Amino acid sequence: MSTPAPLDLAGIDDLLSDDEKAVRASVRQACTERVLPHVADWFEAGAIDDPRALMRDLGSLGVLGMHLEGYGCAGMSATHYGLACLELEAVDSGLRSMVSVQGSLAMFAIHRWASEEIKQQWLPRMAAGEAIGCFGLTEPDHGSDPANMRTRARRDGDDWVITGRKMWITNGSIADVAVVWAQTDEGIRGFVVPTDTPGFSAPEIKHKMSLRASVTSELVLDDVRVPDAFAFPEVRGLRGPLSCLNEARYGIIWGSLGAARSSLEAALTYSIQREQFGRPLAGFQLTQQKLADMNLEYTKGLLLALHLGRRKDAGTLHPSQVSLGKLNNVREALEICRTARTILGANGISLEFPVIRHMNNLESVLTYEGTVEMHTLVIGQTMTGVPAFR
Ligand code: FAD
Repeated sequence: MSTPAPLDLAGIDDLLSDDEKAVRASVRQACTERVLPHVADWFEAGAIDDPRALMRDLGSLGVLGMHLEGYGCAGMSATHYGLACLELEAVDSGLRSMVSVQGSLAMFAIHRWASEEIKQQWLPRMAAGEAIGCFGLTEPDHGSDPANMRTRARRDGDDWVITGRKMWITNGSIADVAVVWAQTDEGIRGFVVPTDTPGFSAPEIKHKMSLRASVTSELVLDDVRVPDAFAFPEVRGLRGPLSCLNEARYGIIWGSLGAARSSLEAALTYSIQREQFGRPLAGFQLTQQKLADMNLEYTKGLLLALHLGRRKDAGTLHPSQVSLGKLNNVREALEICRTARTILGANGISLEFPVIRHMNNLESVLTYEGTVEMHTLVIGQTMTGVPAFR
């Protein structure tokens, strides 16, 4: 019986198929070679060198809308997609966010809710990374309670005229197409808005201390006119955007563990190499306790992610289970990064190591796609039957 690998003490790899391991390996290799060498510089500069080229690279890697069927998408399982998210986020949460918003929010919304003509128009180009999508739900005054959004679409003949503002929108300034949710006389509806439509602009949000290697923007819709064909024909109310958020949240359950793994690896290596008091940090019991606790939470998070992934593939994943996974794994991943940072001492605050970058990134991941508090309330409601949101 061989000793288990340090970061797979429970032998979770044995639960993956050869094909799942192959997809994981190809995403890991491509991201490590093409993105990892640059990502700390992008984070420091607060800008990705060439986001369009990066999106095309991700398209050729096959990770954009990879769990969707047809229209140039890879049609892979939820578990494949989860493993890819983990490897993307092991490089940077910004990279995984770019892929999540493109595939799980913008493409998923179009794939699920748009007419055939709109699907044909956008999805193949989005899968190839030639067209970039964003997803506008959050507003300056309405984040956790999107039901009260102010952005409004009114009918004008055969067109819709949309007015309002969206805030904190990933990929906004570089997007070719925005999925925008707005109040209408028929309830909340979704619209596919080409970003070159007159009245649409997307100024980038600066001064972020988190997700700096990711474009975040405001969307300004000033009497933006789109034909009725650009509205999702059937879906009304929050069911539309929430179905998309569930997809992206699922990816985060896995992705956050990538940031955790990268930080744990960095801390483990550092603790073995760095000596104080004449011996490696790894030789101190207090350091080993930190390493063991980080590994426990990483391992439990991975088991939960895999279990939920198998449920998603079986079609039995309930939204409250997504809340369970998102809440636990992001919270624990952040704690792992914080503990890893202490092991690196002063070096822990340097971008020479990935840890502080992951830690700062996870502050965003903790908030977006439903805050810790919102997912706690979802779990509370599922347990008690009593909603406590208001
Ligand atoms: P608020 O809703 O104002 O909440 C503030 C605090 O109050 C939170 O801790 C919250 O949990 C708590 N709170 C609120 N209501 C309650 C309650 N009833 N009970 C207890 N506590 C409560 N949005 C998009 O639509 N598309 C995107 O692409 C996108 N990308 C993002 C990228 C980044 C980097 C960030 C930071 C955010 C992004 N968001 C995006 C927005 C994100 O989804 C929101 O920030 C999130 O939903 C929280 O909304 P808020 O910031 O307005 O906080």
